[in-house]
Amino acid sequence: MAGNRAVVYVKPGEVEVHRIAYPKLELRDGPGVHPANVGRRCGHGVILKVVATNICGSDQHMVRGRTTAPQGLVLGHEILGEVVETGPDVEFIGVGDLCSVPFNIACGRCRNCKEGRTGICLHVNPDRPGSAYGYVDMGGWVGGQAEYVMVPYADFNLLRFPDRAQAMEKIRDLAMLSDIFPTGFHGAVSAGVRPGSTVYVAGAGPVGLAAAAGAHLLGAAVVIVGDLNAGRLEQARRFGCETVDVTKGEPKEQIEQILGVPEVDAGIDAVGFEARGHGSGAGTEAPATVLNSLMEITAAGGALGIPGLYVTGDPGGVDEAAKIGALSLSLGTGWAKSLSFTTGQCPVMKYNHGLMKAILHDRVHIADAVGATVIGLDEAPDGYREFDGGAARKYVIDPHGLLH
Ligand code: NAD
Ligand code: ZN
Ligand code: ZN
Repeated sequence: MAGNRAVVYVKPGEVEVHRIAYPKLELRDGPGVHPANVGRRCGHGVILKVVATNICGSDQHMVRGRTTAPQGLVLGHEILGEVVETGPDVEFIGVGDLCSVPFNIACGRCRNCKEGRTGICLHVNPDRPGSAYGYVDMGGWVGGQAEYVMVPYADFNLLRFPDRAQAMEKIRDLAMLSDIFPTGFHGAVSAGVRPGSTVYVAGAGPVGLAAAAGAHLLGAAVVIVGDLNAGRLEQARRFGCETVDVTKGEPKEQIEQILGVPEVDAGIDAVGFEARGHGSGAGTEAPATVLNSLMEITAAGGALGIPGLYVTGDPGGVDEAAKIGALSLSLGTGWAKSLSFTTGQCPVMKYNHGLMKAILHDRVHIADAVGATVIGLDEAPDGYREFDGGAARKYVIDPHGLLH
């Protein structure tokens, strides 16, 4: 039987590639595995040979020590792979199928899954609704930044590509279907973006850039992306976005220079709880900054799409309130303007099939938009460091050397 190697969280600022067990169609005990999930049998699962698996800003929250992720946690929730073994209860997925794996693990059988709300499945995480591979507090499903990974409820979860050769030609783009492309797109949809909309996206990381590409796909008239990282803003301009440098002050004034009015129709938070302040505050963390500024600049009656992650516990929080995820929001502004908010995990399955077709038919070039950069498994620790340093790139790990 083949061995297995994976990217493992060691301590704040450090990941390493370790040998781990080859997956079984059963969830075994290990770092981060919830006791109630130990021994869970997965006849409905498959084993995937991982073809592409990306590093995400969500991984960085753990690796920066900003969560309670345990040492030894196998990372990786953005997975694309080939099926090499199917469990006895798998009916429609077969060996050899090349598939995208939604980062949300969903049973397909609970009330939320039945309503398409796969980001809050009730059956996969004993702690709370919603789960993901390789993530703290998500039940302990083993991560996919590895050579091989087990995917449960395979018939429900997997998106099979229609043609293998065609898929391999666009594999860098298709690798974005497990998370950031649907997530950014969901941010735009839930912010109410439609033809002719003006949009402000806070954050020019991969999720923000994917939200901007998603807003273009939805027909936005102007997409403005804000960040404090000049290289990432340059990346946004490469595919037709306007940009705002938040080190120069509140986005409001720069938005007025671009649009002639100090507001937008739709606001998207692609930053989350590690947000920096604006202007002279850009050097320090101020977790409510993005939400408060979006409430200020989004037109009355508008909506905020909030893919940026907010947590319930943060050992590195700026104050006692932030340590338990409590932020100082000017909710009155949002209330007075009748703004609506959409938070939470993106229900990837709602969008991945349509976005796959947009990729395959050349309607969108998401890999170029986010700066997709292929690296080997052993280069993953460097990838984490460079991404944390603010590289305008989305690192795609290629564990079997199939993409070079
Ligand atoms: P990232 O860390 O690469 O990008 C965040 C960017 O925000 C950085 O470029 C940073 O410079 C910028 N930033 C910080 N403060 C800012 C401010 N005040 N205004 C504008 N920009 C600011 O992360 P990413 O991979 O792009 O992910 C973004 C967020 O989305 C993370 O919180 C991640 O956990 C979350 N996420 C959520 C989902 C979901 O399903 N909801 C899925 C994937 C990622
Ligand atoms: Zn992700
Ligand atoms: Zn479910």
